[in-house]
Amino acid sequence: MERSDILIVGAGLAAITLMRELRKRDAAVGITLVTADDGHFYSKPMLSNGLATSKTAASLVMTQRDALATQLNLAILPRTRVTAVDTGGHRVLTDQGALVYGRLVLALGAHPIRLPIEGEGAADVLSINHLDDYAIYREQLADKQRVALLGAGLIGCEFANDLRTVGKEVDVFDIAPQPLGRLLPDIAGKAYRLGLEAAGVRFHFGTSVQRIERGASGYRLHDGTGAITETDLVVSAVGLKPETTLPAAAGIKVGRGIMTDGMLATSAEDVFALGDCAEVAGMVLPFVMPIMHQAKALAATLCGEATPVRYPAMPVVVKTPAMPAVVCPPPPGTVGDWQETETDPGVRSLYLNAAGDLLGFALIGSEAAKEKQVLTARLKLV
Ligand SMILES: Cc1cc2nc3c(=O)[nH]c(=O)nc-3n(C[C@H](O)[C@H](O)[C@H](O)COP(=O)(O)OP(=O)(O)OC[C@H]3O[C@@H](n4cnc5c(N)ncnc54)[C@H](O)[C@@H]3O)c2cc1C
Repeated sequence: MERSDILIVGAGLAAITLMRELRKRDAAVGITLVTADDGHFYSKPMLSNGLATSKTAASLVMTQRDALATQLNLAILPRTRVTAVDTGGHRVLTDQGALVYGRLVLALGAHPIRLPIEGEGAADVLSINHLDDYAIYREQLADKQRVALLGAGLIGCEFANDLRTVGKEVDVFDIAPQPLGRLLPDIAGKAYRLGLEAAGVRFHFGTSVQRIERGASGYRLHDGTGAITETDLVVSAVGLKPETTLPAAAGIKVGRGIMTDGMLATSAEDVFALGDCAEVAGMVLPFVMPIMHQAKALAATLCGEATPVRYPAMPVVVKTPAMPAVVCPPPPGTVGDWQETETDPGVRSLYLNAAGDLLGFALIGSEAAKEKQVLTARLKLV
């Protein structure tokens, strides 16, 4: 049975960033990475603007698996799925055999949420959370003109904008009354919506698709208002759920994600978690910047320098060139009010508490978006 000092499960941004950070600190520690996919490194955020940048699944790969293994001096076991974790025995079982670890890091990511939709066409709905999904999407999109997106959140809006840049007809459905749901206050939400509508996106708010029928060509979508929309391809972007099945079966504590403390330690000895699968000190933050900070802190901890994760202000840039947006929602539970000012074009929305401290913001449009750095520096961290 093979033994690794540090065994990492996953080959996404969390796993790869952690490995790079580990190697900056320790050239010799034995690292093995085991992953269900092929282990090539790609930038997941580019999946939702790959059409505008003419990227295929193959050209999205930034570092091939073998190059990565050589650069970082580690062993990569691709197409190997971990099926169980034996925390007492310090080993994992995979579909290729067992592996023993000194420390185990779970970087399992998240999986797309599937809405309960009726009709035989519901089985054909695509979700795009991986390079393999993107390859299928590109292949299916090739001879199709109309696309329906379920979900007008950050990812749904990015796909909608991307599809418009290559001339596809786009319908977006969301139960919320505006795009980017909870991330935007009222006036900002309206301005953002208008920006994408001007680019040709058709929104259907306050409703959801309830039934999808296969037609002679394409699909008929029945939504909650009784309306029927015809389309050629349906893509779901209604959110992701952290991968918790494997750790839960091993008796590791899970909540919304794999529960960790501020040091990224799970409830099991020598088992850590980071990235989209992790709930770190009560928060699930499925974005690039939190992963960077988690990886840095965990690498230090695994190399013997106990380091808690500390996040700076982390605004998220929404990749919709038709109406650029930067969002930095106020932390949950904070009390304040939105102050919204129209800019040309767009809106600057600031969330201030009674003392006038800036706790969050939303910047809509290219003019307002220029203020990202100044406002980020002004944010009061709570
Ligand atoms: C379309 C899209 C656009 C995005 N755009 C942005 C953006 O603009 N800005 C931003 O900040 N964030 C963005 N995000 C979020 C960001 O990309 C993610 O937070 C990040 O990539 C997650 O990395 P991860 O390593 O945690 O998970 P993943 O990349 O999902 O990696 C999980 C890994 O675990 C492996 N795995 C899972 N289970 C097993 C098992 N049992 N055995 C072995 N291997 C297993 C998988 O094969 C995979 O390699 C976007 C996300 C999407 C989907």
